[in-house]
Amino acid sequence: MRIGYGWDSHEFKSHIPLKIGGVTLPHDKGLGGHSDGDVLLHAITDALLGAIAGPDIGSLFPPSDAQWKNADSAVFLREALKRVKAAGYEIVNLDSTLILSTPKIGPHANAIRTRVAALCGIEGDCVGIKAKTPEGMATENAAIANVAVLLKRS
Ligand code: MG
Repeated sequence: MRIGYGWDSHEFKSHIPLKIGGVTLPHDKGLGGHSDGDVLLHAITDALLGAIAGPDIGSLFPPSDAQWKNADSAVFLREALKRVKAAGYEIVNLDSTLILSTPKIGPHANAIRTRVAALCGIEGDCVGIKAKTPEGMATENAAIANVAVLLKRS
């Protein structure tokens, strides 16, 4: 068994789509970044890479590389999954906590869970999607994602 942990944050910017967990959510701001800014997929990618002691997302997909500009973050996740498979592991489950003030994630949690499960090739009941507001953290203009993943030998 292997455990992995990933963390990411992105700043909200006006006039761009908000993508979290591969789902576009209705909101007046999105998450800025070199790629599509999908904070949850980035944290999942890093958790998977960490579990196999691989390079991190920034090493594999440097923001300085123009080919990742506006990239669909599912591309990063697929590369991590490929490396997990090559290392001889598969996902048992993953759990996540998002920290953001708006929008409310609750109404979209099942859609995010379903999309993340499909991207990872696992069942929906193996994907935890939780959200908190950033009480006392003064991070109202950011979204943060924490992810833990468990792998077993395939
Ligand atoms: Mg990121």
